[in-house]
Amino acid sequence: MSYLISLNPATGEPVGEVPTTPLEAIPAMVCAARDAQVEWSHLSVEERGHCLLQAARALEDEAPELGELLSQEMGKPLRKGIGEVRFCAASIAPRVKQALAALQPRLSADEDTASTVYYDPLGVCAVISPWNYPMSMPQWMLLPALLCGNTVLFKPSEETPLTGQAYAELLNRFLPRNVLQVVQGAEQQGRSLVEADINMVAFTGSREAGRDIMARSAPGLKRLMLELGGKDPLLVLDDADLDAAAEFACASSFENSGQACVSTERVYVDRQVATCFEQRVVRLADGYSLGPWHDARARLGPMIHERQRQHVLDQIAAALAAGARRLYGDDDHPPRYIKPTILADCTPDMAIMRDETFGPVMCIQAFDGIDEALRLANDTDYGLGAVVFGEDEEQAWQVARHLGAGMIGVNKSCFGTVECPWVGARQSGYGYHGSVEGFHQFCQLRVISKSKDS
Ligand code: NAD
Repeated sequence: MSYLISLNPATGEPVGEVPTTPLEAIPAMVCAARDAQVEWSHLSVEERGHCLLQAARALEDEAPELGELLSQEMGKPLRKGIGEVRFCAASIAPRVKQALAALQPRLSADEDTASTVYYDPLGVCAVISPWNYPMSMPQWMLLPALLCGNTVLFKPSEETPLTGQAYAELLNRFLPRNVLQVVQGAEQQGRSLVEADINMVAFTGSREAGRDIMARSAPGLKRLMLELGGKDPLLVLDDADLDAAAEFACASSFENSGQACVSTERVYVDRQVATCFEQRVVRLADGYSLGPWHDARARLGPMIHERQRQHVLDQIAAALAAGARRLYGDDDHPPRYIKPTILADCTPDMAIMRDETFGPVMCIQAFDGIDEALRLANDTDYGLGAVVFGEDEEQAWQVARHLGAGMIGVNKSCFGTVECPWVGARQSGYGYHGSVEGFHQFCQLRVISKSKDS
């Protein structure tokens, strides 16, 4: 039997291990999921929700231990790890409520016909998740998949298998057998899952993996929900509250060591206020100290692995060689970490302004006029989030309406209310979750009609 060893990214030491799922075991797991799906789909949404509400209470009770495991394995500070578990616990009840509304059959009639739209399960769903939020990313896909009556084969990231395993084991205390099974492994296991006899793939991860999943799903015309990478812009207009904009820019560029899908990756600031903005972000960057998960003073943890660290360092070095001005940071990065870095005078041809970075780097380019700001911000294949800061809210809202992203914040992050979908545009997303409509992505819609006079 082979094992997946989970490493503490701050030290490289093992945190634990789980058995890797042999590829040849996957077809039998799919059969078991298909058998379990029959009874699971016969439960009402309330009954399915009840199982998950019980899990929510257990998650809240066990948040300190689960948060510690999550932080050790992923590297984020302990309070953030516990916070992620608590966020998961707290967000189950609103999702269950949303499912109850979303999955009600919908009646409609015209002069001749009476129809009912049913929101039936699709069958067996693969949920494949990344490492950066190792509990909330799976949960965002698992909840709709399960509440809609599907059974799930869940593959956590190979970087955070222990958190994935612990989370699934907790849910499984309250779910019938084989409704949720865990496949442990890396890309190979992911590919085998995608190619197995399943009905849907719900995936959060990189654009490259998303493309491969789409291609491998094509022969079976499997339903897809892909939440992919981003290159989010922040626009700072000439009338913006610069203190608030700078605070947001730092938090959104550096939190989770920049390893967040909607972290700010490009900052476009009106040239008239660029110097004042730069002074503010440099002052604030001092507050982002580095340290391992158990260091209570640390705000930023290590990079997840050396490959990711080197990718970010290479982008920084290439940008500096191409004329970027380093406003904050230096080359003296401690092993396993990257110090917060601020670059100004960035230009659109630099890799750091085009390709996803996923590191604690703020890249600033000045613009002259809103048309140029929009052109620069929209000059990307990605379209996950975007943010605009401007005091004239009506103008900022108009700018937001011209941005190509799926989620846009005005003077705040791009997160919407719990009623809103989590949705990427362009090559950042294909399908979505969250919101009443999001539940429908995990369903087979079925319409039954009769003549009105029958
Ligand atoms: P990744 O694509 O390398 O891996 C994600 C998951 O997919 C892992 O479980 C991995 O084992 C599996 N996988 C990899 N290749 C596969 C393939 N060909 N077929 C099937 N499964 C495969 O991504 P990552 O490094 O874990 O995560 C970082 C990426 O995730 C970033 O690009 C980030 O922007 C993105 N992300 C997006 C969102 C969103 O909501 N849009 C949220 C979080 C992270």
